Amino acid sequence: MKYIMVIPDGLTDLRIKKYNNKTPLDSANIPAIDYLLQNGMTGTVQTIPDGCPPGSDIAQLSLLGVNPRKVKLGRGAIEALANNIKVNDGETVFRTNFVTIENQIMKDYSGGGIHTKDSKEMIKQLNQEFDENVRFFAGVGYRNIAVINKKNIKIKTTPPHDITDKKINSYVPKGQSGDFINSIMTKAHEVIINSNYFKKNKLKANNIWLWGEGKVSNGVSFEKSYNLKGAVISAVDIIKGIAKYLSLDVIKVPGITGEFNTNYGNKFKYALKNINKYDFIYIHIEAPDEAGHQGNFNEKKSAIEKIDKMIIKPLLESKEKFNIIVVPDHPTPLKYRTHTNEKVPFILYSKYKNIKSNHNFSHYCEDIVKKSPLHLNTGHNFLKWCFSEFKKLN
Ligand SMILES: [Zn+2]
Repeated sequence: MKYIMVIPDGLTDLRIKKYNNKTPLDSANIPAIDYLLQNGMTGTVQTIPDGCPPGSDIAQLSLLGVNPRKVKLGRGAIEALANNIKVNDGETVFRTNFVTIENQIMKDYSGGGIHTKDSKEMIKQLNQEFDENVRFFAGVGYRNIAVINKKNIKIKTTPPHDITDKKINSYVPKGQSGDFINSIMTKAHEVIINSNYFKKNKLKANNIWLWGEGKVSNGVSFEKSYNLKGAVISAVDIIKGIAKYLSLDVIKVPGITGEFNTNYGNKFKYALKNINKYDFIYIHIEAPDEAGHQGNFNEKKSAIEKIDKMIIKPLLESKEKFNIIVVPDHPTPLKYRTHTNEKVPFILYSKYKNIKSNHNFSHYCEDIVKKSPLHLNTGHNFLKWCFSEFKKLN
């Protein structure tokens, strides 16, 4: 059997008075997804384990069958994997944002949307001032990486996008290694504000912020775990990094951006093109999450409708046979503009044989979360459970 798993990132939401007490998903016109639901199975799954932060890395690891409590890659290590950055045993990787801090307040987690050209130059200057035990690697725009060679780093950090307009003193890195990590941030600040390039180009990014720490550990093979040859389609580094960790291939797709203007049609086309080569294809779409972070109801609804029309509908209409799983990683409610750890609704549908329906829902929306006929509490067992449900069709 073959499988296509579709992940509309940050899909689910909360009802909003201003929009007739509806959510973007609730009000979206999604006939293809609704068809999968009406002719498939549904339920909910807890992708974020109790006590874990509702990060995309945690949720996506769960959905791909990895226990995020055991594998503490962290955002930094995942992005290092995605970008083939060499990390030695024992080193800790941090996601390193260029940020704007004014009067001890986090004004902007993206350093005024610093351009890659500028961040590359500033990363170069930082590397000149630090020794080889603190190495910086340029990424895209404000998203960069630091690899730190020090034994027993024990630290608790906060993502800068969670503290916009807040005083930073309660959120600076804490714990046994807090002073050490803070001293790196302080030194970087001095380097940045004294740089001629910074002054000449009037950059808004006047600090770095270290967070998302973790270690690159030996990966596990998805293929060995499930006896399925798999690949992912995604524009974002988190998914590409997790794919590397699991030895899943990354299918290169032109025109995908991780934003509203992404080429939805190509995600479908390249999945179908590769369906003979792989047993399992994971299609991730970032746009609904992005709309959630921006608090934009119409963009979120529109992204959901595009997923329906340009990915799910053609998958359904194609002659190829495969099972389909639709599940978001976590909610990104417009109201909070960040992720929450609420359970998410899934659909299982098969193009081989009709899967036995377990519900009377006609529209895929957050109602399923409230009245779910079935709930899976352990996110990292979800995929294994899906495979076993589909195998019952044989
Ligand atoms: Zn997000």
